[in-house]
Amino acid sequence: MAWVRVAHCAIVWTFGWRALYRQVVRSSFATVPFYRERWALHGRTDPVMVAGKGERDGAVPAEELAGRLPDLVPLAGGSATPDPLRGLEIVLHQCARISPDTLIIGAAPEYHPRVVAFESTPDEPRGHVLAVGTPGQLAGVGQDIPRVPLVTFAERGSEGLLVDDLLGVLGGVRDCGNWHVDWPRVYARETPLGLAFTLLLQRSPRLVDIVPAGASGRIARCPQHRTPVIAA
Ligand SMILES: [Zn+2]
Repeated sequence: MAWVRVAHCAIVWTFGWRALYRQVVRSSFATVPFYRERWALHGRTDPVMVAGKGERDGAVPAEELAGRLPDLVPLAGGSATPDPLRGLEIVLHQCARISPDTLIIGAAPEYHPRVVAFESTPDEPRGHVLAVGTPGQLAGVGQDIPRVPLVTFAERGSEGLLVDDLLGVLGGVRDCGNWHVDWPRVYARETPLGLAFTLLLQRSPRLVDIVPAGASGRIARCPQHRTPVIAA
């Protein structure tokens, strides 16, 4: 019956996603200095996750992480360097038509075979071409070249991929016109500070419940793809 199927999908995308999030929160509270200190001070307790519990619902404004990156490394060790293009490979393929023959100008997934930098773009590129970059970078690219802008929350319009220096590529606009979250790799939830994001698969630096500047909106479900989207 239709309603059974719909309910089942809702459970899959919220339940498994949230379970993974809780696991990351629990492990971060136990093993990552920044969260141990912060959540202990603010009264968030293991395994946490009661809405309204702890200061600002446990969310961390991204600007408060300035100078604290070494404290986001788990006690067992790991990298303290964020990847501003984390997730690009998957999200770009979801949001744009790309084949191995596509010439990508600008930001490309690590293993894409045909890439050129903005400054060495040929005058008349041949074949299928796609420019991927910030609005500033794309301003210098010929008007007839298809493009995917990399935008921050402040720059968010109706197209492109949503990026953050710390969190990487958080999602993008798919063919349905909605801003899809990089599900299930990125968890997103509403907090009093705005939307908070957690990288579920990145061990280090550990990024949990981080709110980028201007991250407004709410989390809804795309009626077409049935996965989480950021609604206005
Ligand atoms: Zn969709």
